[in-house]
Amino acid sequence: MHIHKNDTVQIIAGKNRGKTGKVIRVDAEKAAILVEGLNVYKKHSRPKRQGEKGEIVNVSRPLNISNAMLVCPNCSRPAKVGFRYENQVKIRYCKKCKGRI
Ligand SMILES: [Zn+2]
Repeated sequence: MHIHKNDTVQIIAGKNRGKTGKVIRVDAEKAAILVEGLNVYKKHSRPKRQGEKGEIVNVSRPLNISNAMLVCPNCSRPAKVGFRYENQVKIRYCKKCKGRI
């Protein structure tokens, strides 16, 4: 996965296109990410007990990782991510500024 938890991403497709947010969960199996405050849907819950009110809560739904681009913390631009080895350690880098991210 080229996107990690706590990364900032920009959404490049769908109704949230152009928006940025922080990744709060990564699901490698489904290639999905959950972005804070984005892809929010309203979920209606029914009253469970008598006297309780049903409520509407905002829930973020996971997005496919291919719909998001990492925003490089070094150059603050949405960037493609590359991998390279430094001292046998795989590191992630920004293809725009070549900086380690
Ligand atoms: Zn960069």
